[in-house]
Amino acid sequence: MYKVNTLLYSYNALEPVIDEETVNIHYNKHHKKYAENLNKLTISTIPLEQIPKRINEFPLKDRGQILYNAGGILNHNLYWQSLNETPGLPKGKLLNKINNDYGSFENFKKIFINKSKNLVGSGYTFLVSDNNGNLTIINLPNQETPLSYDLTPLFTVDLWEHAYYLKYRNERNKYIENIWNKANFDNASKIYEKLF
Ligand code: MN
Repeated sequence: MYKVNTLLYSYNALEPVIDEETVNIHYNKHHKKYAENLNKLTISTIPLEQIPKRINEFPLKDRGQILYNAGGILNHNLYWQSLNETPGLPKGKLLNKINNDYGSFENFKKIFINKSKNLVGSGYTFLVSDNNGNLTIINLPNQETPLSYDLTPLFTVDLWEHAYYLKYRNERNKYIENIWNKANFDNASKIYEKLF
């Protein structure tokens, strides 16, 4: 059985940036639905994180839907871990690399925000690392995961309308900017520290 990660904070922890109702519906309805759908498609015991790289082990007719729903679980797991009631800056190796490549965290943030604003349709902006520790900010559509491209996702912002529409309506750019008040890089820093 595939499961979503437990949400590590309360539904109102991201107020006022993301309202309680949005977090509740996003986690309990949207995120959990991907796990429900994936479990209907397969009884595989392949670990969730390995599904993107081992998609050829599934029946051809189901691959698209399996990849989509596995991506939906993984991307949301990372999204919830990219946010916290208390914001947190990158640390250790990740902080050094960001300062080296982008000049400062503030400049990195500016570039990430612009990337998010340029996403067309539904998808995510990710900070990813290759196996040598090289960082890139990328947009991916729908529920594509960087794992499909042999990249490790470190931090992400969900840009689907369900992530912000109850509060922000058509003002996606406000959500894209405000979310940085709850951005937390503890998880990203930990993943990067162990990566290479
Ligand atoms: Mn979502």
